[in-house]
Order: sequence, then C-alpha cells, then structure tokens
Amino acid sequence: MLPTYARADVTITRGEGCRVWDDVGRAYLDFVAGIAVVGLGHGHPTVTAAAREQLDRLWHASNLYWTEPMLRLAELLSDRLGGAQAFFCNSGAEANEAALKYARKATGRARIVALEGGFHGRTLGALSATGQPGKWEGFGPLVPGVSFAAPNDVEALERAVTPGGDVALIMVEPVLGEGGVIPLESSFAEAAAEIAREVGALLCVDEVQAGMGRTGTFFAHEGLSLEPDLVTLAKGLGNGLPIGALLVADRVAGGLVPGDHGSTFGGNPVAAAAACAVVEAIDDAVLANVRQRSAQLADGLRGLSAVREVRGRGLLLGAVLDREVAPLVDACRGEGLLVLSAGPDVLRLTPPLVVTAEEVDEALGALARALGI
Ligand SMILES: *Cc1c(COP(=O)(O)O)cnc(C)c1O
Repeated sequence: MLPTYARADVTITRGEGCRVWDDVGRAYLDFVAGIAVVGLGHGHPTVTAAAREQLDRLWHASNLYWTEPMLRLAELLSDRLGGAQAFFCNSGAEANEAALKYARKATGRARIVALEGGFHGRTLGALSATGQPGKWEGFGPLVPGVSFAAPNDVEALERAVTPGGDVALIMVEPVLGEGGVIPLESSFAEAAAEIAREVGALLCVDEVQAGMGRTGTFFAHEGLSLEPDLVTLAKGLGNGLPIGALLVADRVAGGLVPGDHGSTFGGNPVAAAAACAVVEAIDDAVLANVRQRSAQLADGLRGLSAVREVRGRGLLLGAVLDREVAPLVDACRGEGLLVLSAGPDVLRLTPPLVVTAEEVDEALGALARALGI
C-alpha cells in the first residue's frame, strides 16, 4: 500500500448498523460511517438485498448499452431534483471532474470560482478547485483558471468572479466538510446563485459529503433555498459501494454529446442497484431522525467543557475544541468510538443517518471519557 493515509492500526472486519468490529473482536460505535458514506448503517437489509440480487443477474455490460439499474437510478434522482439528467461515475472526485468539464463545454468559457477551504477531490481538476493550498504542494502545475473566495463573504465572491464574462462555473459545498464543517449561510448561497445567473455561469453544489439526507433534507441545498444547475453526489449514494453522480438540471441540459466524457465502470449495475435502494430508503422518517439526533448530539457536545463551538447541519457536525483533535480521535477509539477530524482543532461527527438516541448518548459518554471529563 502506498502510504497516502495515516491509518490507525486497526483492521475492520465486520459491520452491522452503527457498529463495526475489528479482527480481534473489539466493537466500535461508528460515528465516522466510512467518512459520511454508510448513511443507512452497515448491512442495511434492503440495500444489501438489492445489491445481492443484481450480483446474481449482471455485474457489468459497459456504457455502450443500457442497463436497468442505471436508468432507474437516474429517474429516482431526477424526480428528487425536479428534472435532471445524470452522469454516473465511481467517486466524488470523478463527479466533480464531470461538473468542471460540463461547465467548460456547455458555456464555452474557462474560469472556475470555488471557495477557500473547500474540498472537491484529489484528481488534478478537482484538486485545482480545492481551496486548500497545502494539498497542492508538489502537484503543480494545476489546472489554470481557478479563483477562490472566502465562504460566506459575498463581496469576496463578487471580486473572484470579476471580470465576469469568462466564468464557466461557481462551485460550492453546502457545508464545507473537510474544510472544518462550515455551513454556508442561506444569504451567501442565494447571492452565489444570483451572481452565477447574472454572469451566465453555472452553479454546482458539491453534495458529495452533505447530500443523500445527511443534513436532514434529501439534498443539502434544499435547506439553502436555491436551485443549482449542477449537483454532484457520491459518498452516501451507494451506502459503501463506489458510485458517484453528476446531475444536470433540465434547464441547462444539452452541454455534452457522445464522445465528450465517459467512464468504463460508471453506473455499474450492482452499485446502481444498491443506490436505487438507498434513495428509496431515505424517507421522511429517516430525515426526521437526522434532525432529531442532530439536535441531541449538538446539545450534548455543547455541554462538554472542551467544546468551544458546535457547527454544521444535520448529522454533519463539527465541534471546535480548546485543544488539538488528533489525540482525541485516538482516545475515542480507545473508548470504542470512531470519530473524524476536520482540521487541527475540529472534531467531525458523521454517524449513520439511522443512529438511535441511545447510540448518541453512548457516543457522548465515550467522548466525555476520552476528554477526561
Ligand atoms: C470526499 C469528497 C470529495 C471527493 O470524493 P472521493 O470519492 O474521495 O473522490 C469531493 N467533494 C466533497 C465535498 C467531499 O467530501
């Protein structure tokens, strides 16, 4: 293995619901959920059944032909968005690459405007639109034509777009996940949509982490009262099977023709069948649970003396600490709780959307013990 991750010395061998087990039989309450991926919990019955049935039917046929799961998934996602065309791929970075290419081809323009601290993936295009200079080091030259604006700063966004004639795409995360769990304010999101409309650029909402019910609505942008032109999805879409999607709203469709873009594995039948079951499982009850458990978890975090601020939406929550987060992540694991960080002092919690009130209490207890309070 190339050492691209600072892995914990734990080997996960099994999962069920909100819990995973390692190779020596230790159980962990999973408030990472594969980094906001396993939204419906490990081994969700209808998702597992859908994947298993498709495994016995057809694994792969290529994008030279239609397959049924891909068409069903496109229809389900289009219905949720209010009319869209889908491009399927295998990851978040690929979904954002598709968005970048779509915007350039459809508008005939080159420039991209994204947010400082934003994260869109590790491939060169997505990395170039990622507003975290530390992640660029050693990988230049990056894709040219990208400008950045501070999140929630409308004037900075206007400056980044100026001169406006050549902007193809404004790309934002509804909650900056990797960048410290920073939610976009509604007023900023509305201004971004307005600016995009004024200058004739497309607006892409990167919902790779925040979408698929995680913020308490199916799409995270529903909480921001804006209608994006492009939406990217990945993490939660397959509940752990690799699949990503670019959704292009009907009103801006028509930007690509055969041969313009592709992916051998994109829309893989097994992954797409699982994703259909995921979309169908994210119902009002699941979304209500996200909002209720979010309030419970945020309240509990605010009650911890080491927590300075709690931010985020739904079950994408960040707790700004009065100390470094890395040792706390290790201490939590020692207490049987898996958690994430988002920057040097932000604890990030992304449990499955189906987490119970008891499991939230259990996590808060483990967190308090790990903090030594
Ligand atoms: C994780 C993430 C990506 C990249 O997804 P990969 O599947 O790792 O390529 C892109 N955008 C956001 C907002 C993410 O959280």
